[in-house]
Amino acid sequence: MDKFELVQRRSTPASTRESPSQLRKLALVAKYTDNAVIITDPQGRIEWVNEAFTRITGYTFDEVIGRNPGKLLQGPHSNPKTIAFMADRLRLGLGFKTEILNYSKTGREYLLEIDVQPVHDDAGQLKNFIAIERDVTESSTVLQLALESARQGIWRWEPSSAQVILSAHFLPLFGYTSTASHQIDSQLLAITHPDDHDALQAWYPTITQGKITEGEIEYRIRTSDGQWRWVRTQGKAVNQAGDASGHHILGIHSDITERKRVEAEIHRMAYFDSLTGLANRTLLIDRIEQSLSLARRQQGQLALLFLDLDNFKIINDALGHEGGDQLLIAVAQRIEAVVRSECVLARLGGDEFVLLLPDMHRAEDAALVARRILDLMAEAHLVKNEAIHVSASIGIATFPADGDDATTLIKNADLAMYAAKQAGRNTFRFFAATMGDAVMSTLRLENRLRNALKQNNFHLVYQPKVDSQTRRIVGMEALLRWRDPELGMVPPADFIPIAERHGLIIPIGDWVLQNACRQNKAWQDAGLPALSMAVNVSALDFDDPTFPARVRHALDMSGLAPQYLELELTEGALMKNANAAVATLHEIKALGVSIAIDDFGTGYSSLAYLGIFPIDRLKIDRSFVRDLPHTSNSAEITRAIIGIAKRLSMKVVAEGVETAQHANFLQQEQCDDLQGYLFSRPVNAVDFEILWRQGCIEQPAT
Ligand code: C2E
Ligand code: MG
Ligand code: MG
Repeated sequence: MDKFELVQRRSTPASTRESPSQLRKLALVAKYTDNAVIITDPQGRIEWVNEAFTRITGYTFDEVIGRNPGKLLQGPHSNPKTIAFMADRLRLGLGFKTEILNYSKTGREYLLEIDVQPVHDDAGQLKNFIAIERDVTESSTVLQLALESARQGIWRWEPSSAQVILSAHFLPLFGYTSTASHQIDSQLLAITHPDDHDALQAWYPTITQGKITEGEIEYRIRTSDGQWRWVRTQGKAVNQAGDASGHHILGIHSDITERKRVEAEIHRMAYFDSLTGLANRTLLIDRIEQSLSLARRQQGQLALLFLDLDNFKIINDALGHEGGDQLLIAVAQRIEAVVRSECVLARLGGDEFVLLLPDMHRAEDAALVARRILDLMAEAHLVKNEAIHVSASIGIATFPADGDDATTLIKNADLAMYAAKQAGRNTFRFFAATMGDAVMSTLRLENRLRNALKQNNFHLVYQPKVDSQTRRIVGMEALLRWRDPELGMVPPADFIPIAERHGLIIPIGDWVLQNACRQNKAWQDAGLPALSMAVNVSALDFDDPTFPARVRHALDMSGLAPQYLELELTEGALMKNANAAVATLHEIKALGVSIAIDDFGTGYSSLAYLGIFPIDRLKIDRSFVRDLPHTSNSAEITRAIIGIAKRLSMKVVAEGVETAQHANFLQQEQCDDLQGYLFSRPVNAVDFEILWRQGCIEQPAT
């Protein structure tokens, strides 16, 4: 068969009867394939090549005819062992498969996968070799696109030249121009993150010297515009046919920056609080356990500070959700700015923060930190251009004294925080073993209190006020009672602070206002003489901007005329923010409602403000009344309070009047009204009505 006939006849395979059938098929396929196809004579001289060959090598048909493809295409980095192997096989008339680095006419390096098969005629005589060669550098356009979109590149390490050959588009991914081959330790290291140098320098030799057959490493590459991107390099030793030295390495570089970013994001979500960026509970527990094992080994101590903002719920309601968030962020930043870097500040949710002091020498250290944080809080936070004052309560638990695992320590610090709240807030407390009981009962109260309104477990009782001269009923005070089905009667002194702490005081306050007004109106409608009803108002309720509106609502709903309602406020409620209080008091006065200062003498009143506040009545606290008239101190204070009231044209009433001596002394000192067990305990509505119909309460004989 004439070799050139094959070429001419390849479009008409039916007529190539005498050609080996393999050749006929090949002729057809070769036309359409992207692979280079070479047909040589038995000596290996090129007889025919297809168009793909020209495209890959750059040599035209005419340039290659009669030449040896090996000599034509091999170059400086072609593996000599592979060359020798191929020559041997050809000499023996045998086929083979291998890979070799070749060079195009223009000097481009490309990696070829070669499949060479001998072709025999019907008589079994070697007629040709057919070589199918695939450029696997980037084996197809599709693969190249795929690699590029996956931000990957191929690399190959040639044992003969000890060089790493990077696929052409890899470095351009990072903004560098591509070079065909690189000394990995020079060019790659130059753009690798310094922190990754050691790992990379240790890794390449192990894989390139065939010490391991498979491996991967992740490191950062600086792009030409100075950004860091994560790259993962995987390599695998592959056996090259005939390469006695065994391995050469093929590998993939992948840009895994995005994956790293996602991983970091997942990590962040799993371990950090999204609002403040502080550690979350999971990370905190992790860090505590770490510090604990260290402390155990070194016989060290550590402390947990559990911090809860005071009255955050109220502030949050007033500022709005966004403002509340801003405040939490500001608090987090403020604390973080002052604690040492080895401390871990975490947010457990809401307004609860935990600070881990990993190596504490003395318990006093924790106290100092707590004090410092409380002082920090004292400075106003600027939220929505408003200066917000917020304090915190801190509980401290230490290792090894208060627990030896993270959960126990957090729980005990939390209990201690409750104790700090109960001690009046804006303070800190160390954990004490007995705290659990008190707090548990507080928690129990809190849970039940939440349901008390719904389940109708509140009621009001009424205590009369009498005129000190006539001893006739001139008014009454409504006092709240809570009867819990399980706990029985719970005194207001126990549950009012809890209601305040958990934001329940406002709905409860509304309930009291509305019911007191309704009852008073009902009595008036029933024909009893119209009297004023006093209602106690919590400081937190008074601070609520909607408070005056809610008072009006209670009046409107009941139809009670405003002059029959009196609100009792403590000095603390008024003095806490005296300027705001003046405005609120005027709003309330404008409704026609009167105002009394309760427990007068026990708080701190600025006399200057006392003159400005539109107050109708002072209530002398029962702690002074109790000691009358024998303790001169109490007698003096009582006289002074009466004096102030007269001077400021206020009425004055004494509470806790239990004996005739109390009553007589107060009457003598011109105290207007009296209230106390001497006249009546607080009684329910029915009993009160009976008292009232009598009009005058008999003074028991002394
Ligand atoms: P308060 O406003 O000073 O109420 C007077 C307290 O003294 C009442 O206690 C009353 O029962 C008690 N008391 C009256 N006469 C005598 C007496 O002769 N001797 C003695 N030893 N005590 C007497 P109660 O009802 O337990 O209330 C305690 C506090 O709870 C109240 O003090 C008030 O601050 C608060 N409170 C009561 N009801 C309400 C309410 O509806 N809302 C709010 N925010 N606080 C309330
Ligand atoms: Mg009162
Ligand atoms: Mg009182």
